Amino acid sequence: MRPTAAVVTVGSELVEGLRIDTNTAVIARALAQRGFSVVEAVSVADDTEPLTRTLTRLTRECSLVVTTGGLGPTHDDVTREASASALGRALVRSAELEALLQGVAGRHQDLRAAEQVLTQADVIEGADVIKPTTGTAPGQVVALDSGATLILLPGPPTEMLPMLQAALAKFPVSSAEPRELGVVGLSESDAQVVVQRALVGVSDVGFTVLARPGDVRVLLIDEGIGEDALNALAAAVATALGHHCYSDDGRDLAQVVVDDAVLHQTTFGFAESCTGGTVAARVTSVPGSSQVFVGAVVAYANEVKASLLDVPPGLLAQYGAVSEESARAMAEGAREALSVDIAVSVTGIAGPDGGSPEKPVGLVWLAVATAEGSAAVEKRFLAGSRQAVRDRAAATALDLLRRTMRSIPLNET
Ligand code: AMP
Ligand code: MG
Repeated sequence: MRPTAAVVTVGSELVEGLRIDTNTAVIARALAQRGFSVVEAVSVADDTEPLTRTLTRLTRECSLVVTTGGLGPTHDDVTREASASALGRALVRSAELEALLQGVAGRHQDLRAAEQVLTQADVIEGADVIKPTTGTAPGQVVALDSGATLILLPGPPTEMLPMLQAALAKFPVSSAEPRELGVVGLSESDAQVVVQRALVGVSDVGFTVLARPGDVRVLLIDEGIGEDALNALAAAVATALGHHCYSDDGRDLAQVVVDDAVLHQTTFGFAESCTGGTVAARVTSVPGSSQVFVGAVVAYANEVKASLLDVPPGLLAQYGAVSEESARAMAEGAREALSVDIAVSVTGIAGPDGGSPEKPVGLVWLAVATAEGSAAVEKRFLAGSRQAVRDRAAATALDLLRRTMRSIPLNET
């Protein structure tokens, strides 16, 4: 069993949505790297009573509780007070800290403001003090009789960050970074079943599946298994996912496509209808894509499919813009127009309107034209909203390009 930890952010501005909490992610990652199972992350208003209740509960339930915020000099900074009361300990004014803060206090004209600055010298009985390097509020580390630890850190990220390392010094980094596998063309649930099967009998590793339209990420988390075993497991899970797994090192699909193309010195481009430039946008977000990506023709109107991609108007009239024939002609036209090694076309019905029984919303035809001759085509029925269909179509286009460069049949699992 790994020791448990919780993160408590304190600030009415956080719970009321006036400021975004960025500290939780930073602190929680640092705790996970040190072998803690982070079981809770909560935000509490600048209010002594609910904060005391939260801290009382969490210091009983967890091995480590880290708070951030509420350590400043103003009336609403109540974390010191609430912590002392949750632990049943006194607050003691530290002479050393008071001396340090006198300089700051002296700069205030109002006597009350000056006195408030000095409240930052109040230390929970028995706590170790972490001196501030960038602000005025010190941090505190309290070892509890139960063996648990409570750490108080300031709220401003520039003050919190340098103190975090010092506060966690006695907890060495012990966990490997999570391994992140990218999966395309497989649903979240299907991916989860494959991973679960690959992990049967394996302990001390956690996994989670994070999905958005067109992209599923499998995260393998070190829960005591160690770096070498985690790496071996990542390789085994990648194998189980087969051709659907496009990366085992966190790279996204566009990055993988660009890296592969650079490796094989392959140039490519797109003919985009329903995706409206999304595929090109994803590729150009990758630094260095200019070495291999030539361009894309956003051929939305039939006139543009005809004039810029040389799709015969008769063909468009006979089969429709969303058809095997048009997709193929668009890819071949784009390969010609852009003078690239590989061109991929996408044409589909993103919805919400425009579907019919024969061509429902979500129907997308894609084609890949290479020097080898007639373009290979792929028909997909993609689910979701207009945006989801467009995102899934863009991912499919990138996947077909990846498969073509790796000589993987377009629909092989
Ligand atoms: P405090 O320590 O409560 O005086 O925090 C002062 C300022 O730090 C707040 O006004 C916020 O802008 C910022 N801050 C506090 N908590 C967080 C947090 N969890 N994430 C990001 N910024 C924060
Ligand atoms: Mg505050």
